[in-house]
Amino acid sequence: MTVRTRVAPSPTGDPHVGTAFIALFNLAFARQHGGQFLLRIEDTDQARSTPESEQAIYDSLKWLGLEWDEGPDVGGEHGPYRQSERSEVYRQHVEMLLQSGHAFRCYRTPEELEALRAQKSEQGGFSALKFSDLELPDDEIRQRAEQGLPYVVRMHVPEEGVCVFDDMLRGPIEMEWAMIDCQILMKSDGMPTYHLANVVDDHLMAITHVIRGEEWLSSAPKHQLLYKYFGWDMPKLCHMPLLRNPDKSKLSKRKNPTSILYYKKMGFMPEALLNYLGRMGWSMPDEREQFSRNEMFENFDIQRVSLGGPIFDQEKLSWLNSQWLRGLSTEAFIERFIDWGLNKQSLEPAIAHIQPRIERFSDVVPLAGFLLSGMPEVAESDFEHKNIDAESMVKLLQMGLWQLEAIRHWEKSEIQGRLFALAKVMDIKPKDFLFGFFVSIAGTANSFSVLDSMEMIGPDMSRARVRHAINVLGGVSKKGMKKLEKEYRSVAESIEQSLNV
Ligand code: GLU
Repeated sequence: MTVRTRVAPSPTGDPHVGTAFIALFNLAFARQHGGQFLLRIEDTDQARSTPESEQAIYDSLKWLGLEWDEGPDVGGEHGPYRQSERSEVYRQHVEMLLQSGHAFRCYRTPEELEALRAQKSEQGGFSALKFSDLELPDDEIRQRAEQGLPYVVRMHVPEEGVCVFDDMLRGPIEMEWAMIDCQILMKSDGMPTYHLANVVDDHLMAITHVIRGEEWLSSAPKHQLLYKYFGWDMPKLCHMPLLRNPDKSKLSKRKNPTSILYYKKMGFMPEALLNYLGRMGWSMPDEREQFSRNEMFENFDIQRVSLGGPIFDQEKLSWLNSQWLRGLSTEAFIERFIDWGLNKQSLEPAIAHIQPRIERFSDVVPLAGFLLSGMPEVAESDFEHKNIDAESMVKLLQMGLWQLEAIRHWEKSEIQGRLFALAKVMDIKPKDFLFGFFVSIAGTANSFSVLDSMEMIGPDMSRARVRHAINVLGGVSKKGMKKLEKEYRSVAESIEQSLNV
């Protein structure tokens, strides 16, 4: 048997360090067994998937030195590797399940589903919806079908009993079927859900080992059942621990930069980031901290993965990066440094802002050095403004940050549209509103366009700097945050409306 593993990211948002972490362990496992590793793009959520995000996945994984043998960009025998190009395959497989009686069309309306759920939670016990809850009389189904009402296809799951499945790191795991609902396999628009597409593709792409994040553990019973319904062997499952913030919560962009592009921009060496990811829940047999990708692969043993959630700690990563930097020859250092920030591509957009404002080359770094820095050195007093008190400053930065987090296409026009719309709702003049963002991003209000600057430094670096500014200003208390979130919800709604017209 040839070992075949895969990583299957969804191209929504920025490429996540968690994707690189999972890709690394899949690649290590495949290489250790002389097998193949492939990349599949899971873009069934058409509303949230973007080509930019897909491209960023390729670029960032390649930057880290994680290469795949098959994938949408390189092809392969088991393609297409982009789920949006496989609709017909899923449709056929849903049809097979309907024919064999393992799936059913469900005409329940959203209101009915809500009422059913409420009823179940009132009764206590599990809120999972089973066939006995969803079932409708035959003539009712006929009527709804004749009226052309929308339906979804759901899988049958046992009403009771216990499901047992194996995890390579955890051994046998038991889950009560009562907890598991009749999963939707195909949505009313004819698109498959993750569960159906994932199982069908893993089988057709001859995946032998599914190494993925712990958050998918609860999906395993449904997947196991689907393999059984289709009469296929199931790949071995291995659920990796979740990366965590230093406070042990799941690594999230609200607390920690999670985009690989942020780490690139921040000037980490790809070798160091990969090395650090290799140390998340895993260690070399001799416990050495610094090792290369190939050293890891040579010594790889998946059984050495420990399950306690590994902490993704910026300081430890920085320390490790410093070790890698010290290991470079002067020549390599110069080359890497130029390649990182002084290349034509990254300088070009900045020059239009710099050239008209300077008298000598020596003015460039004081004026535009912030484009290449990490967090600017700012103090609370830098944010003082004659028309905005300290409390409002934190509030507008936090609300602005949420608006920045909502941006799908990171372009000046969208950044501007959202921030100005927010300023309008908050009844603050755009110029006054942007002051706090100037200080957060450039460290001073005397800089060139902060909107252009944000576009240049990218989404994660921009958000990280605004987050940093909020912390410098003392942050938002837990209670304050609740209040702010509530206020923001209605604000955000009116902004979405104003942007859509
Ligand atoms: N598309 C899923 C994700 O975004 C893949 C999960 C899996 O590996 O099964 O992580």
